Amino acid sequence: MIKIKIIGKGLIKGLKVTLKAFFRKPVTVMYPYHKLPVPERGQGLIRLRVTQLEPEPRFKCTACGICAKNCPQHCIEVVKKENDKQPEIYTVNYGLCMFCRICIDVCPFNALEQTQEYELIGESRLDFIRTKEQLMMKTVFIEPEKETASKKEV
Ligand code: SF4
Ligand code: SF4
Repeated sequence: MIKIKIIGKGLIKGLKVTLKAFFRKPVTVMYPYHKLPVPERGQGLIRLRVTQLEPEPRFKCTACGICAKNCPQHCIEVVKKENDKQPEIYTVNYGLCMFCRICIDVCPFNALEQTQEYELIGESRLDFIRTKEQLMMKTVFIEPEKETASKKEV
């Protein structure tokens, strides 16, 4: 008789928890149909800033290689163009990157941007190695001080 009582108590306790959870608003979303907003300081994919897009893109990156030297995961590869302070090759292996943003902080030319993009899909490891064309920002980068100056002029 005592045993039955104890089992009954536990069952009621368990059902209480289940009922509470049943009426609670779900914390999950139907991804990818619904997406949660990324926090303002969310650290997503790294992109290369450009100073012009036409006739051909010019990167803010001078291919100095400091980011590659400081990357703890060794996932950046930079090769400089001959007679031009531009990267011939600039790749980031997102399969290794841990989004620590050291590369951004050490870049003396403010050439990298951390976006809030977080979707990274691939079928093989090679798909996670992004070239400079894939890493390139799609809009020209304007220095923040220039932007505020032009706003003041208006
Ligand atoms: S540190 Fe900056 S300028 Fe130098 S290679 Fe890296 S991204 Fe380019
Ligand atoms: S975020 Fe960190 S791990 Fe990723 S490329 Fe930059 S320095 Fe390397």
